[in-house]
Amino acid sequence: MAEKITMGPDGTLHVPDEPIIPFIEGDGTGVDIWPAAKLVLDAAAAKHGHRIAWKEVLAGQRAFDETGDWLPAETVDAFKDYLIGIKGPLTTPIGGGFRSLNVALRQILDLYVCLRPVRWFTGVPSPVKHPELVDIVIFRENTEDIYAGLEVQEGTPEAKRLISLLHDEYGWEIRSDSGIGIKPVSVTGSKRLIRAAIRYALDHHRASVTLVHKGNIQKFTEGAFRQWGYDLVHEEFADVAVGWDDCKGDPGDKLLVKDNIADIIFQQVLTRPDDFDVIATTNLNGDYLSDALAAQVGGIGIAPGANINYVTGHGIFEATHGTAPKYAGQDKVNPGSVLLSGVLMFEHLGWQDAAQDIVRALEATIAEKIVTYDFARQMQGATEVKTSEFGAAVVDRL
Ligand code: NAP
Repeated sequence: MAEKITMGPDGTLHVPDEPIIPFIEGDGTGVDIWPAAKLVLDAAAAKHGHRIAWKEVLAGQRAFDETGDWLPAETVDAFKDYLIGIKGPLTTPIGGGFRSLNVALRQILDLYVCLRPVRWFTGVPSPVKHPELVDIVIFRENTEDIYAGLEVQEGTPEAKRLISLLHDEYGWEIRSDSGIGIKPVSVTGSKRLIRAAIRYALDHHRASVTLVHKGNIQKFTEGAFRQWGYDLVHEEFADVAVGWDDCKGDPGDKLLVKDNIADIIFQQVLTRPDDFDVIATTNLNGDYLSDALAAQVGGIGIAPGANINYVTGHGIFEATHGTAPKYAGQDKVNPGSVLLSGVLMFEHLGWQDAAQDIVRALEATIAEKIVTYDFARQMQGATEVKTSEFGAAVVDRL
């Protein structure tokens, strides 16, 4: 019988054998990648005695065409009610409405963690020599920083008023022809994100959490994020974790919490990726870093993501790429990103066996060089297949 996923008072999810899971197919290539991914997810779930009662909800272009609303209230209510959902890519409406439907969903449901695991899958073409050394889980703060949307446009009365207020009250000299953005970074937002990263690292037996920040320049936002992370280790995790300065890099059997400045991290994840396990970082740093790392292991066609609130239990798993409109409806693009987001969802639901089966079957398919166009153009002797054929090939190897 189809039932809702619920969360118990102890904060653990109760997942029935047939959970109701809302999904958004997505715009553009969503029509191609979602059916292929769903085929694999259903087959892997069935192999382990589960069934998913998919509940389609609308957002984006299709929602606008059918209801006149880019993000209908029923869609938001379904994600609130059923706790866990999954989505394909969405067109961002231009000239009004939300800045981005993805950002809107994250803010409405207060999905404060953007979780992006980045690892290499055997056989995937990569621009680096040792992609197998990359196994990094990024926890990106998802509600603050410049993504708070607090901006005033150059030349407007609001910008002029803000510039003169900052001059009069703080003595700050800002050019009169400036636009201004506000970057809030709070104790609350930082600590709940870093707390989630530390708990994840402990649960998954990872060796370290690295706090990535630009604190040498932005002392009271990025620098404070770093400090609050180390404070949290003292306040809540002293028995199981230790900060770098307190152990000089030798944590014994505890989890090591260290930090890196945001510019140098791009060099280090490239030159010695195995120094990094879990990364906790502010919103914009995490945005850049997750795409750069995805490129190291095969690109955004295969990069999964999730937006999670560990306190309320809400989570939306999503393809991290966009709608790639030039390929829409051609049954051409790689369904790997939304499929692996489904794998991440299965892991989150405690369906580890089904998740592992999908990864094994995906690797077996790629090992036989059966791939979509994006990998085929980087591999010699590959058999290029359509999106739907790739999904079917993975199912055959489950
Ligand atoms: P995009 O849709 O991510 O596409 C950029 C390029 O990435 C594509 O041209 C393609 O590269 C590659 N790509 C994307 N999906 C792929 C897949 N499944 N398999 C293989 N390669 C893939 O970015 P965009 O064209 O800048 O944005 C289009 C729309 O998507 C915009 O409306 C944007 O706002 C929206 N968007 C939505 C999300 C989201 O919903 N999470 C995220 C980003 C953007 P090649 O052409 O080189 O093959």
